[in-house]
Amino acid sequence: MTDVLDINVSKITASKLKHLRQEDLPFGKYFTDHMLEADFENGEWRNIEIKPYQPLLIEPSNSALHYGQAIFEGIKAFRNHDGEAYIFRPYENFIRFNLSAQRMCMPEVSEELFIEGMRRLIEIDKEWIPLKNDHSLYIRPLMFATDSALGVKPSETYKFLIMLSPVGPFHAVPMKIAVEEHYTRAAPGGVGFSKNAGNYGGSMLPAMLARKQGYDQVLWTDAFEHKWLQEVGMMNIGFIINGVFITPDLGDTILNGVTRSSVITILQDIGIKTEERRISIDEVVEAYNKGTLNEVFGMGTAAVISLIKELKYKNTVMHFDTSNFTTALKVKHKLNEIRHGLIKDKYGWMFKI
Ligand SMILES: *Cc1c(COP(=O)(O)O)cnc(C)c1O
Repeated sequence: MTDVLDINVSKITASKLKHLRQEDLPFGKYFTDHMLEADFENGEWRNIEIKPYQPLLIEPSNSALHYGQAIFEGIKAFRNHDGEAYIFRPYENFIRFNLSAQRMCMPEVSEELFIEGMRRLIEIDKEWIPLKNDHSLYIRPLMFATDSALGVKPSETYKFLIMLSPVGPFHAVPMKIAVEEHYTRAAPGGVGFSKNAGNYGGSMLPAMLARKQGYDQVLWTDAFEHKWLQEVGMMNIGFIINGVFITPDLGDTILNGVTRSSVITILQDIGIKTEERRISIDEVVEAYNKGTLNEVFGMGTAAVISLIKELKYKNTVMHFDTSNFTTALKVKHKLNEIRHGLIKDKYGWMFKI
């Protein structure tokens, strides 16, 4: 990567860091001193700036607000005991961001802008990366349309932003999940594989209805039969059945999670068989009844691994003792050790800042 990125840097006069209470860092609530901002105009990214975190000024006719050309990413950075800072697998997010951009008819970003821009921004706000175990700096790249016009067409101008948020441990209480039989998150030919804002908007009502029934989230099923499993909330889903890890295979209805792919690599390395294939709720219920369903968990950057203690489908309520989820707990532990620099990064996942 050539360092050709011309960034205009303007720094804050007094850091807000001293006001941050490290013991209370809810997900995505506090932001660091600086942000990166760039504009897409006349077919190219320009005005690349790192500047104090601040509000944006947009017109009411901003087309992203009306027609939803908005995509994002979620990545984490860590500091190890020597004070060195690392980003976890940012190239995977870079590739995925551009896939989302293509699907939403938005311009791609260069590796320099995405990776080098992120690196420079974090370098400036490095002190904000929490040092405590299970803490990290959450990185949120975002792109949205900025044309001010109500005509329905791809915008000609866009904004790219990177913001940083120090986060504490995601409250890892085991979840209760209801299998979704009515609503759909993603259908073939749709946008389920892309990380666009609308996917999240559309998932809120089903999630809220599940919460009213006492469940934390829904397990999404396919649009036609509501039987083939897709994802859990905004995480990928994994099962251990008879000692084998099974997760739905990728297609345009499943988001290609970096955590999912990391889990598969680690499991294969520790000798656990992995299968990426179609899996139905009937297969899961049958395994539960036979006593061969060992573990169920979600995978994603924010919570890493989320254990599932209850799964409801029609009149069947499946209960699990998550303290027996040895495989999920082992993988979570390994991932954390790699990310915090406690063991050798044998897969080359940690990108040094
Ligand atoms: C972001 C996301 C995931 C998790 O992806 P990671 O790269 O592991 O963070 C899974 N499913 C959906 C729908 C997502 O938006």
